[in-house]
Amino acid sequence: MSDPLLGHEPWIRLGLFVGILAVMATWEVAAPRRRRDISRLLRWTNNLGIVVIDTIVVRLTFPVLAVGLALIAEERGWGLMNVIGAPMWLAFIISVLALDLAIYLQHVMFHAVPALWRLHRMHHADLEFDVSTGLRFHPVEILLSMGLKLGVVAALGPPAVAVLVFEVLLNATSMFNHSNIRIPAQVDRALRLIVVTPDMHRVHHSIHPSETNSNFGFNLPWWDRLLGTYRAQPREGHEAMTIGIEQFRTIRDLWLDRMLIQPLHGSASGYPINRDRGDPPSTPLKGAKHESPVHPE
Ligand SMILES: [Zn+2]
Repeated sequence: MSDPLLGHEPWIRLGLFVGILAVMATWEVAAPRRRRDISRLLRWTNNLGIVVIDTIVVRLTFPVLAVGLALIAEERGWGLMNVIGAPMWLAFIISVLALDLAIYLQHVMFHAVPALWRLHRMHHADLEFDVSTGLRFHPVEILLSMGLKLGVVAALGPPAVAVLVFEVLLNATSMFNHSNIRIPAQVDRALRLIVVTPDMHRVHHSIHPSETNSNFGFNLPWWDRLLGTYRAQPREGHEAMTIGIEQFRTIRDLWLDRMLIQPLHGSASGYPINRDRGDPPSTPLKGAKHESPVHPE
C-alpha cells in the first residue's frame, strides 16, 4: 500500500488544523481585511464549540469514514479506479478533482433546496467572516456531507491517500478562504486562478442573495467559472459589504445553542430555488409572450 501518510492520519489532520488555524489567526491580527465589530472570544468559543460537536457526531454515526472506506475499496476492488486499474498518479488527480466537484455540487444543492438551506444557512448566519467561520457548519450538514463523500468514494474507488489529501486540503482551504486577511489585489488575482481566495469567497457571504448564490467553490476556483456561478467582487466592496443573512442578526444568534436549533426557526424563503422572487427573470422565456414585461434593474 501506498502510504506511510495513512499511518499518521490523525496527527496529520490535527497538526495541520491547529497549525493553519494559528497562522490564519495571526495573519488576521497582522493584516485584517475588514474591521472587527464583534468580540472574537464570543464568536470563536461558539464556532469552535461546533467543531467539537461535529467531530464527535460524525465519529459516532459512521462506522467507517471516507479514508477508511477508500482502503476497503482498494482491498476489494470496488469503484471505477480500482476496476479499471488506473495508474496511481492518474487515479490521484481524477479523485481529487472528482471529490472537489462533488463538494461544489453539494454546496449548490445546499443553497437550492429549502430543507438543505435551513441547515447550511447556519454557516452563513455568522455576522463576521474570519477563519472560525470556515469551521462553522451544522452537525447534520456535516453528516450529510460525509454520507455523500462515502457514496463518491464507493463509486469512484479513489486511492485512500487521495481522499486524505483532499480532506486535509479542504479543511485547510476552508480556513484560508474564510480568513479576514488582506492580500494585495494583484496577488489575489493570480492566486484565484488556482485556489479560492478570501476575497473570492467573501462574496459568497454577502447579505445579498444574488451574491450569496455565487462562488460556491472551496478548493478549486474553476467550477464556478466553468459552470457560471463566478462573481469577481461584491457590489458594495469588501470593506462596506454586509456579512450574513437577513434572518439571524442578533448577538444571541451567535451562541452555540441557537446555532444548533436555527434549522427549525423561521422560513427557508429568500434564497432557495422556489423563493418568492421580488425580481422578474432577467430574460423572458421564448414563447412566453403573455408574461408580464421585464423591468430593467
Ligand atoms: Zn454557502
